[in-house]
Amino acid sequence: MVMQKKQMLADALDRTGCGKLLRLAPSWRGVLILNYHRIGESRHSLLDRNLWSATTEEFDQQIRMIMRDFDIISLAELGPALKNRRSRAVMITFDDGYVDNYIEAFPVLKTYNASATFFITTGFLDVPQVPWWDEIAWMVRTCRLPHIPANPWTGGPIPFDEPDREQAIRRVLAAYKLLEGSSTAEYMAVLADALQTGRAPLHIGHELWMTWPMIREMSQSRMFFGGHTVNHPILANIAPEAQDFEIGECRRRLMQELSQPITAFSYPVGGEASFNMHTRDMLKKHGYEWAFTFIGGVVPNRRLDPFALQRAAVESDVNRPLFRAMLSLPQLFA
Ligand SMILES: [Zn+2]
Repeated sequence: MVMQKKQMLADALDRTGCGKLLRLAPSWRGVLILNYHRIGESRHSLLDRNLWSATTEEFDQQIRMIMRDFDIISLAELGPALKNRRSRAVMITFDDGYVDNYIEAFPVLKTYNASATFFITTGFLDVPQVPWWDEIAWMVRTCRLPHIPANPWTGGPIPFDEPDREQAIRRVLAAYKLLEGSSTAEYMAVLADALQTGRAPLHIGHELWMTWPMIREMSQSRMFFGGHTVNHPILANIAPEAQDFEIGECRRRLMQELSQPITAFSYPVGGEASFNMHTRDMLKKHGYEWAFTFIGGVVPNRRLDPFALQRAAVESDVNRPLFRAMLSLPQLFA
């Protein structure tokens, strides 16, 4: 469904009270898994603003909205919830490991005694850095040229849609996602050169990520952790041996820092094309039991695929009626 139609239908569900009825009636069964990235204010950021799922106030409201009609379950409760044919539960997840997860989201979750699962890119914590999507946004936003010059990598020239340059950023990111893993480093170097910005300053990377002590503190308060690779490559675009390292090493680091078994993983980027059969084999080999995608919808209690769990992204344009519609009719909205 296109966004405008979704919004109209979501508003109608709200206005007529049908949404409320649907949330109380068993219109769906299973587990609705929501995914967030960053929480807070994105307006003035030079980085990828699409990563912000909600402001802190919106996140607080969303947790309250869920708790009014559903149970929020932890990762430990996922297995039992999926075995129960009558369950209707919601699970909260976060990807990447941004520090605002600790500063903004964790206090809200604690207030409501709600559990969440955080999928960590371990390399970002061990060697603080600016990830490719944020660095591309930074380059496009700080570029002083009149447009992105034509080049073999992005085509072009790409005009800047002022003042936010969001469309230009999307186009440069889309070209990255099509690359073989072996050419991504060259692409970033070419961009830094073509846009005449150089690479993003390192201090940005030092302020972006949670630390291991933060994660240990969260794990003492019913927060769970899972793997999201070491370097955040699109796994389907890299060789099986490289996938083996990304999947195994990230689990080893998490277990070393947290002293607990790690059973869950989320695929970077997360669509159908972001993982392949090698990825699944490696996950099983390294002892993971669950893998989370960005394929939307509800995880059904029956015939579920534990290595391709559906997850619905909460994005910054998800306003109150749309969020309520995701809970009422996830078949259409999630
Ligand atoms: Zn990610």
